[in-house]
Amino acid sequence: MRENHLPTAELQALDAAHHMHPFTDGAALAKKGARIITRAKGVWLTDSDGHEILDGMAGLWCVNVGYGREELAEAAAKQMRELAFYNTFFQTSHIPAITLAKRLADLAPGDLNHVFFNGSGSDSNDTNLRMVRRYWQALGKPEKSVVISRWNAYHGSTMGAASLGGMKGMHKQGGLPIPGIAYINQPDWWSEGGEMSPEDFGLARARELEAKILEIGADKVAAFIGEPIQGAGGVIVPPASYWPEIQRICREHGILLIADEVICGFGRTGNWFGSQTMGITPDIMTCAKGLTSGYIPMGASIVSDEIARVIDGSEEFAHGYTYSGHPVAAAVALENLRILEEDGIVTRVREETAPYLKTQWEALAEHPLVGEAKIVGLMGSIALTPDKAARAKFAAKEGTVGYICRERCFANNLIMRHVGDRMIISPPLTISREEVDILIARARKSLDEGYAQAKAEGLMEAATADA
Ligand code: PMP
Repeated sequence: MRENHLPTAELQALDAAHHMHPFTDGAALAKKGARIITRAKGVWLTDSDGHEILDGMAGLWCVNVGYGREELAEAAAKQMRELAFYNTFFQTSHIPAITLAKRLADLAPGDLNHVFFNGSGSDSNDTNLRMVRRYWQALGKPEKSVVISRWNAYHGSTMGAASLGGMKGMHKQGGLPIPGIAYINQPDWWSEGGEMSPEDFGLARARELEAKILEIGADKVAAFIGEPIQGAGGVIVPPASYWPEIQRICREHGILLIADEVICGFGRTGNWFGSQTMGITPDIMTCAKGLTSGYIPMGASIVSDEIARVIDGSEEFAHGYTYSGHPVAAAVALENLRILEEDGIVTRVREETAPYLKTQWEALAEHPLVGEAKIVGLMGSIALTPDKAARAKFAAKEGTVGYICRERCFANNLIMRHVGDRMIISPPLTISREEVDILIARARKSLDEGYAQAKAEGLMEAATADA
């Protein structure tokens, strides 16, 4: 097909001249030129040079129903014609927001029956931060305001959300974190578990929460926030002992539990929410991404009866966004949820696709470059290592080998991301068995090539223990 756009080199030059990219080394990108995606259908992207690329990341972990669903375009167009915008401030509402709030209340576990709408995952977490502090303040405990999070957590990029996150590279730019956030270590057994069994390590890491609460004082701690499975941190699957212990500790010490479901929500782990997969009942869930399958921006904080009772039962909660509950986004979300349910996508992930992918994914652990291969539902990671038995890191700068493998994936028309020296996938939930086979074959080929290159460049050296 003759493409109706400027040649790639011209687009790249314009991009470099005018477009500032998120989480990107601008100078390096300008030298290399951006990969320009022009179209997508199902799990397949097309770039400006006509390559067909299997999207192993569902965009940014968000295109759960796959690309090109006409029904979603129709839902948006219909809603734009009917009511393109109205706000939900000042005692007004509209049908898409009302219908979606009710739908989310029905889907969410436990007594999470109330929805505050936001524009993205980051500002949903800003809402949560303000809401938990306001909750305790309204109950006459304003000093109960610290939120405990985890190193290497990702909760977004606004001042509040980046502070809630535990990404040290983000904190060092621009005076973060804001006051009143504390951190404990992540449950990453592969990198940090040492000689402990995964189960003991999971308990030990959960009990760091208890120690931190006791150190700060339970009367000063508002909430704990965590992703059921850390995504951007490298798809860190916690040991099974971890989350039940976190839930126990939160309950015993009167601390609210916020589950950041931005990636895990809407089928990613084989259930509607990651909290269900991990067996926990949070007080608040942060949602975005899969809520609309990324077709349009939208976020939501789904909160318990108790939190809604206090927030709505006291003076006005002085918080909100112009686009809270945006009618077009809500209409798209409703249609997206209908597709997820009526096409049986969540069930199919749980019962068919995830088990099929799991067998092949875990077999990658036999590759000489791979240490562990973990996967829950359709989010998986592999740890690259120069020495499996020792669970060693590379002597080379972290991410060097990961980057090589990521580049090999691109060359083989597979999008797989690297986080340091972990490779991660999170494909659209609609991926077929045949496409899983292609994903695995391309991943294997890319690992073979990455391994050959790492050996040729002398990168298979392990870091010394104290390095
Ligand atoms: N929380 C989690 C767990 C995320 O993975 C992300 C985005 N990757 C966010 C929050 C932030 O979402 P957004 O980029 O929509 O602001």
